[in-house]
Amino acid sequence: MACGKVCAALARIIPHSCVAAWAAVRRGLPRFVRSLLAGVGSSCPACDGAARAGLLCAACAQAVLEQATARRCPRCALRLGATQAGRRGGLCVECALHPPAFAHAVAAFDYADPFDALIKRYKGARRHIVSSALAQSLVQAVRTVHAGRAAGSADRADPAASAGPDAERLPIDVVVPVPASRASLRQRGFNPAGELARGVALRLQLRLLRGVLRRRHEGVARQASLARPDREAAALDAYVCAQRLDGLRVALVDDVMTTGSTADAAARALLAAGAASVTVWVAARTPKPL
Ligand SMILES: [Zn+2]
Ligand SMILES: [Zn+2]
Repeated sequence: MACGKVCAALARIIPHSCVAAWAAVRRGLPRFVRSLLAGVGSSCPACDGAARAGLLCAACAQAVLEQATARRCPRCALRLGATQAGRRGGLCVECALHPPAFAHAVAAFDYADPFDALIKRYKGARRHIVSSALAQSLVQAVRTVHAGRAAGSADRADPAASAGPDAERLPIDVVVPVPASRASLRQRGFNPAGELARGVALRLQLRLLRGVLRRRHEGVARQASLARPDREAAALDAYVCAQRLDGLRVALVDDVMTTGSTADAAARALLAAGAASVTVWVAARTPKPL
């Protein structure tokens, strides 16, 4: 815990470039040295409890896993209430009426209290404190949910299925991040989806394709406030692929999925470039308003 507080204090005074350089050095260290570092105590970025190597504590990791494997729409990862379960083949109303271009989605947790704080920290000044925990949480969710789907339960996965080498056999060839707008890059200095995609691809040993998906033009906001027809029209041609992706099964990574219109537009561009399928992986999914 003390170590985590020291790290947090250092994070306020050390420029991010130094932290990134240290992360690069750490990745190049021999495996046994990295193992030693992985045992170093830290503070859980969600609850400040005792944790290891900058990851979530055991209780928060378990809580995230329960959220990831809660009953969700298999298409867009929206959390479903008990009364919605089993209707329309397990799909939410939106996906049943207007199926998105992507085939599946996995979310590590809901963009709601308590774990929305992780996203806020990630997009703020403490990103390097949270980035490992966020990537690890999404990897855990992806392994578990895909293993559950592979076992035949499309809408509900068994957390115990996350263990073992089968979980590594994901139906994915490449990882592609949702690109940030120029305004967002200027404001934050990094693309949250890009950094998350890098961490996830590294952990799952999947190929990361950066810069392949591009915004066709600026000014396409993540317009949660717009009505569906306006949103669809605004997002329809928002993205384009810089290269062919013929036959590739793509995991599209974003930090938060709000309405799904951004992921839908990005998936359309990926499919237009020849991708065989698009699965969306997000750290957080905004729940439906009550
Ligand atoms: Zn915790
Ligand atoms: Zn849905």
